Amino acid sequence: MADLVEDVSSAPGAGSPVQVRPGLWAVSLPLPGPPYRVTVYVLETDAGPYLVDAGWDTDEAWEALGAGLAGIGTRVEEVQGVLVTHAHLDHYGLAPRIREASGAWVALHPLDAEELPGYRVDPAERLVELLRSAGAPDSAVEPVVAEFGRVSGRQVAGPDVLLGDGRRPDVPGWDLTTVWTPGHTPGHLCFWEPRHRLLLAGDHALPRTAVVMHEPRGPQDDPLGDYLDSLDRLEQLQPDEVLPAHEYRYTDLSGRLDRLRDYHAGRLAATVALLDDGPATAWELAGRQRARGTLAGLRGYPLHATVTRTLAQLAHLRAQGVAEERPGPPPHWTLTARGRLRPQPGEPCRAAGR
Ligand SMILES: [Zn+2]
Ligand SMILES: [Zn+2]
Repeated sequence: MADLVEDVSSAPGAGSPVQVRPGLWAVSLPLPGPPYRVTVYVLETDAGPYLVDAGWDTDEAWEALGAGLAGIGTRVEEVQGVLVTHAHLDHYGLAPRIREASGAWVALHPLDAEELPGYRVDPAERLVELLRSAGAPDSAVEPVVAEFGRVSGRQVAGPDVLLGDGRRPDVPGWDLTTVWTPGHTPGHLCFWEPRHRLLLAGDHALPRTAVVMHEPRGPQDDPLGDYLDSLDRLEQLQPDEVLPAHEYRYTDLSGRLDRLRDYHAGRLAATVALLDDGPATAWELAGRQRARGTLAGLRGYPLHATVTRTLAQLAHLRAQGVAEERPGPPPHWTLTARGRLRPQPGEPCRAAGR
């Protein structure tokens, strides 16, 4: 899911198809919460339509998808395949229901197919695990424990087709190639369409919002590093237009990639500056990064996203040898000797002994 910014100013009304190119349409579907809209792209073929992303599994989204396809002169029952950029349920959610209605295949990267069983776990249970790993105090964890079982995780049926990097999914008349862009999720995919020079970008490079990374899985995992590498992978493509799954389509990918790199560099520098003040838990750092200086008042997904963002930054600083995690309890983070010796802006490099 994207960060918590709503921007639907240039988005079409839900369920009204907008032509992007001949035979390629955008259909905006409603989401039950921020960012309120997700765009499904429809590729027309002689065999029937193929979709990129599916939308959230609600009756409202289902009806909007039906209306959008009717506006193009087709129906959900005619859909032949659903290419899903990543496992988040605003993208994958409706895919099994579309398959049931039409017999279409559903495709996803194998690493995101592995994510789906995790969605059956109670979200409060996952949040408690995350907060404990961040060194949150019992007083912060207890209210989340009290929410156990309130929202039951639903079973989500898996994909039929697994798509790795550089694969060419079978969509007649369209030349699509997958570009594996991990970071936001482990198996996030973009789809490159060279004939019109279009990049179907999912959540990887939204025009306004810097998306949250997935939780680091173990001490070797560096989702933010993967994400920054994934940004670099897109640089060579030079699309005429980027088709993201939220917000609006845009043309200057290279400029957007630069701004995203700058944003993350700034956030990382701010985290290093906080670590310079002394050891701290990820929980404490996540609070200090907020304008209010505390995580108090945050609950549910916003709390999850805020703590995950900090954990991903710390994991990246660890991978760079700048920060390290000391065992607890609670586990806390500190700068390494190399991190303390890093050059300050406008200052000669102390590590070089000058
Ligand atoms: Zn999303
Ligand atoms: Zn997402």
